[in-house]
Amino acid sequence: MPAIGIDLGTTYSCVAVVKNGKVEIIANDRGNRVTPSIVSFTENQRLIGDAAKDGASQNYKNTIYQAKRLMGRPYSDDTVQSDIKHWPFEVIDKERKPYFKVQYKNETKTFCPEEIGSMVLTSMRETAEAFIGQKIEEAVITVPAYFTDAQRKATKDAGEIAGLKVLELINEPTAAAIAYGLDQFSEDMRKILIFDLGGGTFDVTVATIKDRVIDVIATGGNTHLGGEDFDNRMAEHCAAIFLKKHGIPIYSNTRAMSKLRRACEHSKRTLSSSTNDNVVVEALAEGIDFSAPITRAKFDDLNSDLFDQTIEVVEKTLLDAKLRVDQIDEIVLVGGSTRLPRIRELLEELFEGKELRRTINPDEAVAHGAAAYASNLCEDVSDGIEQFTIRDVTPLSLGMESCGRDMVTFIPRNTNIPTRVHQDTWTTTKDHQTSILFKVFEGERAATKDNNILGSFVINDIPPEPRGVPKFSISFDIDASGILTVHAYQRSTGLQNSITIENDKGRLDAIMINRMKAEAEVFKQADEEWKAQSQARHKLEDYVYAVKKSIRSRKFVARYSEEERQKILKKCSDSLNWLEIHTNAAKGEIEAWRKDIKREYDRYQLL
Ligand code: ADP
Ligand code: MG
Repeated sequence: MPAIGIDLGTTYSCVAVVKNGKVEIIANDRGNRVTPSIVSFTENQRLIGDAAKDGASQNYKNTIYQAKRLMGRPYSDDTVQSDIKHWPFEVIDKERKPYFKVQYKNETKTFCPEEIGSMVLTSMRETAEAFIGQKIEEAVITVPAYFTDAQRKATKDAGEIAGLKVLELINEPTAAAIAYGLDQFSEDMRKILIFDLGGGTFDVTVATIKDRVIDVIATGGNTHLGGEDFDNRMAEHCAAIFLKKHGIPIYSNTRAMSKLRRACEHSKRTLSSSTNDNVVVEALAEGIDFSAPITRAKFDDLNSDLFDQTIEVVEKTLLDAKLRVDQIDEIVLVGGSTRLPRIRELLEELFEGKELRRTINPDEAVAHGAAAYASNLCEDVSDGIEQFTIRDVTPLSLGMESCGRDMVTFIPRNTNIPTRVHQDTWTTTKDHQTSILFKVFEGERAATKDNNILGSFVINDIPPEPRGVPKFSISFDIDASGILTVHAYQRSTGLQNSITIENDKGRLDAIMINRMKAEAEVFKQADEEWKAQSQARHKLEDYVYAVKKSIRSRKFVARYSEEERQKILKKCSDSLNWLEIHTNAAKGEIEAWRKDIKREYDRYQLL
């Protein structure tokens, strides 16, 4: 059974599989090779991908996008709060986790980001199953290199809810490096820089490739920088123009702002190939149309500080990798936003005119590499590609709090994973201390208050002794997916405790995952029922029109009276009227109509 690679993007997702030793990017049922990571809920159905995007402006309150931005974050998180302000749909606080609140089949429903993620994953999986003609159960899913432990776990949970066995999570830029490296493996070491600027996140990775081994040396990035930020800047600029022209402020009108953002996104793309465009929105607010010219220069100016930030991150990552710009052999561009001419210019300036690599499609590179890696992990290699190895790194330093305030780093950032670090000298800070609270943090700052807490655990009943006497062995383990387990153990007493998950951040537990899995099945069934209903409707309609046509035929007219014909015609129009009113009719009811007409019609035995 093949395993697939899924790039679960903030804005777009992409799925690929290895077939006959070649990576295939799989097109969805619309024929598109990338699928919007959007899920919408209507009165009678759930839509995922292109269909959800199509209906977004009419159904903006129930169309969820960018769920990935909330994955693994608590409701109170600053970025969550600022995102909520921009969104036209509702996000509520449920046990400290953000949940999307929507209307589905005239009922109020709430979904956590993992569930929305799982719906996108399910749709990608179905796309792949349709292509391969087999069930798929295993996948490699990609995450931004800068994703924290909690965000990785949330992604894994999303996979699990979708009923997928997540073989491994790999970093998006590393996946892109694989895609690039597959035809570049050679004995000479090549140093590459992967620049991935997507819709919501930005990642930079420096890696070396040699002898079918990809070694990541350093990563950097910003989990909150991407194409949507550029859209927002442009939308705010347009809103200011609208205010000036018409005296109407629309900043807090989420519907108007989201229409405007959509138009800006469109213009932004146009500005990547032409130097000017018009942003046009019909009936933006109070029935007034909006139209304003925008130039590429203006767009670049509106975003110049954000663009500069990307270059700063590149410089910092190179510093971490201990490399100078001239030591980089190749720059690989990944993510839709690398199509922006200004970004390319800035990179070319920084790398002193070195050519940017354009041979791999920036939208597909990540899924491409993930599929290659999935095949690499699968036992059945007959169909796969030649084996290779990746050695990734952890993006943030990991450590523990000491003396209630200081960060003691156990694993420095950019350490190769999987890894295990062990220390035997952790001890108490007060005399006769009988319990220790172990608090685990990630981040680069010396004070734990400036870092990000991952979780904590306690060991109690420690025999009282002077401070510094009890000794604890601490181990930090990071698995190949970048997920951390911390374990503490007192040899003299056998006391121990550990954490893998951070309940603090509202990580889903097994019971919840199972519940969501069951719900996902219910949704799938509801979607299937909806499809069956739609098919039955079409079948009835087709049938009715065929009957009507046949009744008008010369043969029929010659044989039967007008009265008889009217009888059938009436049934036909009754059924069409009924269909129009009963938009939610069950398949059985619809079929009953068809049978009824057929019975009537068959009496004339003309079919
Ligand atoms: P993600 O990985 O976050 O899902 P993608 O790599 O698919 O994102 O990139 C999506 C982003 O790329 C969107 O913000 C989109 O507006 C932007 N984008 C796509 N095409 C272009 C283009 N031609 N010019 C500028 N931006 C683009
Ligand atoms: Mg991406």
